[in-house]
Amino acid sequence: MKERIVCKFGGTSVANAAQINKVKDIVTMNTKRQYVVVSAPGRDSLDDQKVTDHLLNVATNGKHFRMQNESITGQQSYEAVLGKFQRLIDDLAIDGGDIVKNLEKDMKTPLPEVKRLDFMASRGERYNAEVVCRYFKKQGIPSELVLPEEMGLTVTDDFANAQVIPVSYRNIKKKLSSVEGVSIIPGFYGLTEKGDIAVFSRGGSDLTGGEVAFSIEASLYENWTDTDGIYRADPRMIPEAKVIPRLTYKEIRLLSSKGFDVFHYDAMVNCKKRNIPIQIRNTNNMNSEGTLIVSERVPEEVVVGIARKDNIAFIYIERDGVGETIGFVHDLLSVIKDYGIETYHYPTDRDDMTILINQDDMVGYAEDIKERIEREFKPDTLEFNYNITILSPVGIGMKNHPGVIAEAANSLRDQNINIDIIIQGPAQISFHFGLQNYYADSALRALYNRLIE
Ligand code: ASP
Repeated sequence: MKERIVCKFGGTSVANAAQINKVKDIVTMNTKRQYVVVSAPGRDSLDDQKVTDHLLNVATNGKHFRMQNESITGQQSYEAVLGKFQRLIDDLAIDGGDIVKNLEKDMKTPLPEVKRLDFMASRGERYNAEVVCRYFKKQGIPSELVLPEEMGLTVTDDFANAQVIPVSYRNIKKKLSSVEGVSIIPGFYGLTEKGDIAVFSRGGSDLTGGEVAFSIEASLYENWTDTDGIYRADPRMIPEAKVIPRLTYKEIRLLSSKGFDVFHYDAMVNCKKRNIPIQIRNTNNMNSEGTLIVSERVPEEVVVGIARKDNIAFIYIERDGVGETIGFVHDLLSVIKDYGIETYHYPTDRDDMTILINQDDMVGYAEDIKERIEREFKPDTLEFNYNITILSPVGIGMKNHPGVIAEAANSLRDQNINIDIIIQGPAQISFHFGLQNYYADSALRALYNRLIE
């Protein structure tokens, strides 16, 4: 099979001319890199907002930033976007007067609000891909701009959270097989069956990259970003934590579900189906191998990484026999479901049960939920506890390895740290300690020292 690499470059990798020049170096270093997916320009030293946020701010007349307590008006964002693109064009010394003109026209296009947001949000990727393509051509690299609408990337009309419709895969394959040279593809959006532009959830250019990799049966999906890969623990808290060289999809899934903010999980789903390895690499340190995500690996270590998730609440409910009552777990979880709230874990025992929830998701609903549980389940005890941190050691090497949880628990005991909740994942490749947030820093340090160092 012909080896083909899809490379996706995130916002900081394409934030300015110097960064785009690195992208060119990376692509030309390996002739298999024929498919390039780009994000909108991200933050850099001249603008600490992403172009996508500015565009959303234009679309909402300043409300987008107001909601984040940022005082940037819609007009200022409008000028920031145009200024950004003009700078890219000038600094890369490409012809781009038409790009700025079209962008200006798009930003003024009247559309109903729900469509307008997505259309506007997509413009950063749309025109950045054109800038990159022109620059590549100017550098003598045969390239073609391939828009999602041209390659038949068809999505549902769930605006701001569009889902890819499977017909896309055949369309993408067909279109890309006809391209001579490097395909430059804007990430983050597709076209609905009715012909509207709809974007994926934030960070969704990763998803475009994953879907392109799946469609063309790529041999590798490279995700170029601004960190060296996935670390064994958050390096802001454990500065000496090293990058994990290899991980399975399952491990990254467990780590990313607990605060490892790496990349869009949905991007992995289809790659996993076709066993397409995903490599997370750093545009600013291109010689580093980064992290390779694969289906299988032989573990050299027991614990591969430790994830941390703060701001967890747990609801504790006690009543005799709940654990023996058919349908109780279902009925209780249905209450939470009615509020559209995701639950993390729900350990049960004979007479009680807890439900772990992201506490921010409960804002505005906690009192209602409490009242309903009291009314419908008449518990003997009902408690809502907040400010819990979950620490989750993960690693396929853990399975069948005696004493890992004991070691972990001992490391916390040595620090006099109490564990409120213990859960082992059913696959036996993860476990989760829930503890009071004020212990979290020292608990993470203790676990890291004992399980990883
Ligand atoms: N530009 C979009 C965002 O900021 C998508 C992406 O960068 O992946 O969310």
